[in-house]
Amino acid sequence: MINLLSDTVTKPTPGMLKAMWAAEVGDDVFREDPTVNALEAKCASLFGHEAALFCPSGTMANQIALKVHTRPLDEVICDEMSHIYQYEVGGYAFHSGIAVNLLKGENGILRAEMVEAAIKPRYDWLPRSSLVVIENTCNKGGGSIYPLKQIQEIRQVCQKNSLALHLDGARIFNALVETGDSPASIGAEVDSLSICLSKGLGAPVGSVLIGSQAFIAEARRVRKAMGGGMRQAGYLAAAGIYALDYQVERLRDDHAHARQLAVALNELSWVVNIRPVQTNILIFDLVSPRTPVQFLDYLKQNGVIASAFGPQTIRFVTHLDVTKEMVKQGIEVLKGY
Ligand SMILES: *Cc1c(COP(=O)(O)O)cnc(C)c1O
Repeated sequence: MINLLSDTVTKPTPGMLKAMWAAEVGDDVFREDPTVNALEAKCASLFGHEAALFCPSGTMANQIALKVHTRPLDEVICDEMSHIYQYEVGGYAFHSGIAVNLLKGENGILRAEMVEAAIKPRYDWLPRSSLVVIENTCNKGGGSIYPLKQIQEIRQVCQKNSLALHLDGARIFNALVETGDSPASIGAEVDSLSICLSKGLGAPVGSVLIGSQAFIAEARRVRKAMGGGMRQAGYLAAAGIYALDYQVERLRDDHAHARQLAVALNELSWVVNIRPVQTNILIFDLVSPRTPVQFLDYLKQNGVIASAFGPQTIRFVTHLDVTKEMVKQGIEVLKGY
């Protein structure tokens, strides 16, 4: 099977399994797991921040960030395509009692002027704008990348207006291998960020929330309240450390594969509106009367799994477990439709 459903489907490589097997562990709720401590220190230093917190999922890492940065009756400003709005079950309201102020960016990428214009004045009858969340790369935006300069401009607006800035960096390394920017250069522009180890990086489980000492101290309490305090989590953290050491650079291969698929799709008369392919996500529309249900069914019968991303829209995601040969084979299947 060629699984283009998501980059979350990756399984640990033999090298990663070996690292997990060899991990030294302890009880992380007592802060006594040396491998978790090492992963947290590694991530904090990589992004130039003081501290970090290993979380079971990216959703939990983001939700903790929302909770720590805001108070009830505040609002978070973000793009309408944001993962925190679209795919986290409305947790911003549930956990934090806050509203969302949704903006329409370009493929999920905001500009500083839009953010500035969205900040509400301080009246008693308005939600209080206190946090901006940006997503790099933006999943629903087709794996789109934030130019560093645009992040810097948003940062300036946030500082001028005393707003916090959180980066949902679930796929930040996909952006970094393309732009060549250092993790620290992005880290310097945000108050906190979350990164996913279990997407293209290939770890089985885990995300890391990164920020200041004081921010992470609060985050640790919120994680426990959410039930996310884990015990011998070092086995999972070892996979994360391995992923950061050995499976970042290869993200470039995934991007090349996505571009190859896009080139092939571009030749097909029944495909329209292929979103710009900047990283490992490929989003396109089918010309009616073709429907995602029929198309996905055809793919499945021919060994390819993908997902619908709207009434006429399909998403392909390339990753560690999609080889060069599989991409070739997938292109043949597409041509046969
Ligand atoms: C996958 C993802 C997350 C976190 O997802 P989990 O499945 O909870 O780990 C957060 N943000 C973005 C942009 C994502 O793509």
